[in-house]
Amino acid sequence: MANSIQAIRGMHDVLPEQTPRWQYAENIIRKVLNAYGYSEIRLPIVEKTELFKRSIGEVTDIVEKEMYTFEDRNGDSLSLRPEGTAGCVRACLEHGLLNGQSHRLWYYGPMYRHERPQKGRYRQFIQLGVETYGMAGPEIDAELILLMDRLWKQLGVREHVQLQLNSLGTLTERARYREHLVAYFSAHHEQLDDDSQRRLHTNPLRILDTKNAEMQPLINNAPELMAYLGEESVAHFKALTACLDDLGIAYQINHRLVRGLDYYSKTVFEWVTESLGSQGTVCAGGRYDSLVEQLGGKPNHAAGFAMGIERLLALMECQNDAPMTKRVDVYLIRVGEGAAQAGLRLAEQLRDALPELSVHVNMEGGSFKSQFKKADKSGASLALILGDDEVLNQHVSVKYLRDNQAQQTVPQTDVVQVIQEFLVSSAR
Ligand code: ATP
Ligand code: MG
Repeated sequence: MANSIQAIRGMHDVLPEQTPRWQYAENIIRKVLNAYGYSEIRLPIVEKTELFKRSIGEVTDIVEKEMYTFEDRNGDSLSLRPEGTAGCVRACLEHGLLNGQSHRLWYYGPMYRHERPQKGRYRQFIQLGVETYGMAGPEIDAELILLMDRLWKQLGVREHVQLQLNSLGTLTERARYREHLVAYFSAHHEQLDDDSQRRLHTNPLRILDTKNAEMQPLINNAPELMAYLGEESVAHFKALTACLDDLGIAYQINHRLVRGLDYYSKTVFEWVTESLGSQGTVCAGGRYDSLVEQLGGKPNHAAGFAMGIERLLALMECQNDAPMTKRVDVYLIRVGEGAAQAGLRLAEQLRDALPELSVHVNMEGGSFKSQFKKADKSGASLALILGDDEVLNQHVSVKYLRDNQAQQTVPQTDVVQVIQEFLVSSAR
């Protein structure tokens, strides 16, 4: 392999044996989004760098050190999207979607961040993003949480995730809090690590988010943002928690939850797990009422979240019973010259009659024995056999690969019915 080219560090191939897990999760995700009336939006992977600077914020980890930024051939600075919210707002503004209407949107696709690769942290990763516009009340924040609650349940991981909540208030409230926080941390300057000293005047709230255990006592005694919130922010937060209480959704209020991006206001939340080591946040989001205006639109309410699919799949894999979708239902074995074309014809008839069926036609040839082995390995539940005798008599033999039923030979015209009966009886 000395001369072979390899994938970029932190960017992974998903091999055919893994894709059924992805598809399984993706199907459930689509169904749940549909149940809540959300529409899909598809967005470019590359945007102008300026878009991310203006939305995420110049002094955030993402913009400071994680973006893949490059110059286009005509000299524009472009970046691979590190997240989807900015592009989604950009698209909605550009196409006039935010003129008085409300929207519930989702997108699904790769994001790029130049981080140190480790388990659960990659340079290309997939996010489901959900964004809503034009809705001010806490009920939409609650709906976003309910949607995820339902999704966790359907994916079979509900008992492995916990909801954490906080409120970041408005920009003005946060600015006032920020002054007090900076004063507090400045008074304990010697206890700050290098990263936090650097953040003290650029992004002090992020210090609360540090993973450095030595700083925890200092963080625990820091002033709490909740105490600086105005009446409206407090009322919004109370109404949200009342909604969640009413619907029986458990949550923890986490005063240290500040999120890494600048654009949040009022509600922020994370779904966290203890099953994945230090990469414990699987889904994160909140309200970002100032972002639309920040990107040049009229002020508009917005709330949303993003879920990392690799972390979700890792969580599902923690429980070994993560279901796999079957790839092949019927494996068609062909031996002898006459079976070559007859096999293709029969497979087409099956696909016409049973569009949901997955039919795999053997193309490699070989003896019955070697083809049976392949049929077995494919996971198929039925093997159809076309040899010289079958072709001559316009028959086909049916072998049941997963149960004790005896092999039978039937006219080709009956095989659709035989398969249908088998599918019905095995679904029971
Ligand atoms: P973290 O604190 O783990 O760095 P974050 O706050 O940077 O996460 P967000 O920007 O909120 O993450 O992204 C939402 C979700 O996307 C995360 O909860 C996680 O599931 C996923 N995610 C973010 N960065 C990565 C990454 N580098 N690799 C894999 N998944 C990621
Ligand atoms: Mg991060």
